[in-house]
Formats: sequence, structure tokens, C-alpha cells
Amino acid sequence: MSAVLDDLRAAVGAAQVLTDGDLSAWELDWRRRWRGKSLAVVRPGSTAEVAAVIRVCAQHGVTVVPQGGNTGLVGGGVPDASGSQVLLSLQRMNRVRAIDDANLTLTAEAGCVLQALQHAARERGLLLPLSLAAEGSCTIGGNLATNAGGTQVLRWGNARDLCLGLEVVTAAGEVWDGLTGLRKDNTGYDLRDLFIGSEGTLGIITAATLKLAPLPAATTTALAACQTLADCVALLKKARHRLGAGLTGFEVMGRFALDLVAQHFPALPRALPQAPWTVLLEQSDTEGEAPARERFEALLADALEDGCVVDAVVASSLAQSKALWQLRESIPLAQAEEGPNIKHDISLPVSAIAEFVAATDAALQAGFPGVRLVNFGHLGDGNLHYNVQAPAGTDMLAFLAEHEHAVNTLVFDALTPFGGSFSAEHGIGALKRDELALRKSPVALALMRSIKAALDPQGLLNPGRVL
Ligand code: FAD
Repeated sequence: MSAVLDDLRAAVGAAQVLTDGDLSAWELDWRRRWRGKSLAVVRPGSTAEVAAVIRVCAQHGVTVVPQGGNTGLVGGGVPDASGSQVLLSLQRMNRVRAIDDANLTLTAEAGCVLQALQHAARERGLLLPLSLAAEGSCTIGGNLATNAGGTQVLRWGNARDLCLGLEVVTAAGEVWDGLTGLRKDNTGYDLRDLFIGSEGTLGIITAATLKLAPLPAATTTALAACQTLADCVALLKKARHRLGAGLTGFEVMGRFALDLVAQHFPALPRALPQAPWTVLLEQSDTEGEAPARERFEALLADALEDGCVVDAVVASSLAQSKALWQLRESIPLAQAEEGPNIKHDISLPVSAIAEFVAATDAALQAGFPGVRLVNFGHLGDGNLHYNVQAPAGTDMLAFLAEHEHAVNTLVFDALTPFGGSFSAEHGIGALKRDELALRKSPVALALMRSIKAALDPQGLLNPGRVL
């Protein structure tokens, strides 16, 4: 192995090939569920260096795990325990290469932290409409590799919808320069869309060109309390009709999810009295604050009158808006504080969600009495984080070891009659690889395997993930 390490040092410089000391920032995942051991953590600073690293690995038959911010939730970005894989960190590739105000595009390297790109766009009066709770740490390369969703999908789509062009290092160590800012470019197969969502298994994303939009004149937030999930869906329908494209966020939070936030982050204000369901609505407006507030107030008055909402508040300042979003964004952190849990990132047609949740809650309580359901998510996209916490007072790790598989099977099987998906936005990684093999059609799996074999015939890139 020392020959590989020597060649890697020659490719990126000895200081960027880490083999000693505490490497857990790269080898342990965000959920603290997968701890690997790498041959080395390699930190290239340019596309040419990434290509050189891949050529070294190809030559020595060493497999590579690409990593951005290491915030992924499905165990896709950390090495296995063999000590034989190179962990390729893109974090040093963090330059904004260009912002084109007239074309409304931003070109940046893969290791740029999402929040830094949002700020870079905002400084030019523009909006990069991708937003998720991990935005202070996740990278644009990781966002594209996982086709991340987040809180603005309702209006702007997933990471895929925001990407016009990519630069990718192939498994052979060649550079594909597809960094176009064109909205129309029907010139053969869409290679960009192959790499987006491929979770590091088909190529290394080194840069991307993203769509921007003009900054809205005002962004307003409101909170609404509902008695049932069906009422939340009724509110969504109303909000879509009344606010049109101005509706940029529609998040739902179950009572127990907010209880966990109150328990672990008591300093955060709750804003509304307890209700079975709380909805966070966001409206972005080109006309300004006052008309946006008026539209929100009219919508909520209508919803209160017909009973789908029982209480509501419109944020009166930016600080209040931020506090409401903080409630929502603290749920995954509060859940992590509470202990290990079984995460389900599922999607369904919005029209089927209430029925699915009622039936599946009941089935879980019958099969695993006392389990606690941490249910929240992007209702506007039909995407729920339908997570299962062990009954209070039980050993959570023992519960997971004994019941995780059965709980997953129950939840994923329940999706089938409703036409749902067992992976909405987090991806497959290591966590859901076996589910993919079970639940995807043989034709789809065969096509995916052919693509993998064509683009990475040596099986060097992130083996054991996705397929
Ligand atoms: P990593 O975790 O480093 O990697 C993720 C995957 O992408 C791995 O398979 C890795 O091999 C691959 N990869 C990384 N960089 C590259 C590259 N340059 N080229 C090729 N492959 C690469 N996700 C959502 O979609 N929506 C949410 O709302 C959301 N909320 C979250 C909230 C919290 C608190 C946390 C911790 C995570 C959340 N996530 C969410 C999941 C995660 O943040 C996203 O999946 C994010 O896109 C991962 O980016 P990253 O840079 O951290 O990637």
C-alpha cells in the first residue's frame, strides 16, 4: 500500500494525504451510525488533482469514496471498515468561479458549502433557491450527488432542477467539461442528469453551473395549527390556489416532533399552543412585505373560518420568521439528542398522505406497542420524514437491533398500494441498498447496472452503495 500512498502524495502533495491522527471528521457519518477506516483521506485542491487521484487509484485498483460535507443520512459518504479505500474529500475545492447576472447562473466548485453559495448569490441581489437544515455544512457537490430536496422544492424543484451544467472526473480519471449555462441544449443523451443523484458511484462532481433567480422583495412566514393531517392537506390546497407561485414553503410538524424540540431546546419559543399538527408556511413576494402579509392573513382567516386551521400566527419581523424556521430545522437535531431512531424518508401523492399515516400509525402501534412517531417534513412535496423512536424508557439500541428490519418492512410495504417511494430525497447509500434491490423492478435494476458497468467498469467509485 505504500506505493499507492507515494503516488497519491505525488498527485496532491504530502500535506493533503492524511493517514494518522483522528480522522473521524471524515470516517464517522453525521448520524454516528457508520464508522469506517480509510487507507487515507485525500484532499485535492483542483479538478486536475482530482483527476490525478482517480488515475492513481485506477492504476492500483484502489476504490474511492467521494465526500463533501459528510451530512448525508444514508451512510453513502464514509469508507467501509477495511482500511483499503481512499476517502476523497472535495472540501478544499471551494471557489465560486463565476456569477452571470444576465444569464442568472452561478458556477462553483463542488466543495463550496451551500450557505456560502446562497450568500454569494445574495450579495449580487440574486437567490439560489436550494435550502436545507444542513446548509451550513453540506456542499453543492454532495447536494447534486444526492439530488437533495429541502424546503423550497415546492416552488423551485430539487437540486437537479437547479443544475444546468456539471464538470465531472470520470472513473478513468478524465475530465468531462459539461459546465454549460444553457437552458436549452438537446444534443444527445443527458449526461448531467446521469451524474446527478448517482451518489458518487458514476463519477466525481468537481463543479456545477446552477440556476439563480431574482431575490424576492419580501419573504413572510406563518404558522398554523391543525387538528388532523387531512386538514393540513386542505390548507395546502387553499394556499396553492390563493398564493400561486408565491408559496415557497409548506412544512408539517407532528406534535411529538415539536415536543422533542421543546425538551431538547427549551430556549426556542413554541409560538402556538400545542396541536396535533403544526404547519409552517412561507411566501416569497415580488411586491413587498405589506401585500404579502395581507394575502397570508386573508388565507388564514378563510382557513380558520372553514375549520381546517384552529389557530394561526403570521411572523411580524424577520427575527420572528427565523425563529419559526428554527423550530422546524431543530427537529432532526432534537431527534439525534433523543437517541438512535429508525428514519424513513418517504414520499407519496399528497392526496394519499393522511390515509397512509393513519393506517401505518395504527399498524406500527399494533406491531410495536409504545413506539413514538416523529413525523414531520415537506408536505408540499408529499415528502414525510416518518421516523420511529423506541418506546420511552427502553434501550434504543436494543430496540433497533431487534426491530429495525421489521419496522422498515411494515412502513415500506404500506407505501406500495399508495404508489409511494421509500426514498424521497436522502438517497440510497448503504442504508437502503438492499431495499432498492428488493423493491425496484428487474428492468430498472438491469438498466442501472448497465450504466454502472459502462461508466465505472473497474467498480472503483463508491462500491457497495446504491447497487
Ligand atoms: P456527503 O454527505 O459528503 O455525501 C453524500 C453522498 O454524495 C455520498 O454518497 C458521497 O459519496 C456523494 N458525494 C459527495 N460529494 C460528491 C462529489 N463531489 N461527487 C460525487 N459524489 C459526491 N437532505 C435533503 O435532501 N433535504 C433535507 O431537507 C435535508 N435535511 C438535512 C438536515 C440535516 C440536519 C442533515 C444532517 C442532513 C440533511 N439532509 C437533507 C441530508 C444531506 O444534508 C444531504 O444529502 C446533502 O445533500 C449531502 O451533502 P454533503 O456535501 O454533506 O454530502
